[in-house]
Amino acid sequence: MDFIKSRKPDHCVFCKAGANISGEDKDFIVYRGEKCFVILNRYPYATGHIMIIPYRHCKNFEILDDEELSEMMVLAKKFISVLKCAFEPDGFNIGMNLGNVAGAGIADHIHLHVVPRWAGDTNFMPVFAGVKIHPTDLEGAYKAIMQALEATS
Ligand SMILES: [Zn+2]
Repeated sequence: MDFIKSRKPDHCVFCKAGANISGEDKDFIVYRGEKCFVILNRYPYATGHIMIIPYRHCKNFEILDDEELSEMMVLAKKFISVLKCAFEPDGFNIGMNLGNVAGAGIADHIHLHVVPRWAGDTNFMPVFAGVKIHPTDLEGAYKAIMQALEATS
């Protein structure tokens, strides 16, 4: 059981995506920075839901180094612009779920969610509670983001 419970980095989907092991198109990576990459969430809470993820397999927020942290925030800023351009949302949720009890789907590898929001999209449902609201066309979202990335850079 210990063997099953312990997730190794080589089984980590974010490490695999970051290392481009399964292929960039399939992983829906929209941007590669120096310390972090940006990827579409396969199970989005809303259209255009992205995650900003350090390449390094890192579980705890306080262990991120300053360069990883600052690039995360710089990319959040960049992609707020990109997502505004692509989807014209009314607002955003930006956040991290640290640990399983906090709702992290992949608790072993830290990631920052950026979720576009529209007026009336979920009423009062907390967006990070794991409730999927929007059926989403990932291919379409990917294309829209790549176009907006070009338009805003
Ligand atoms: Zn990992």
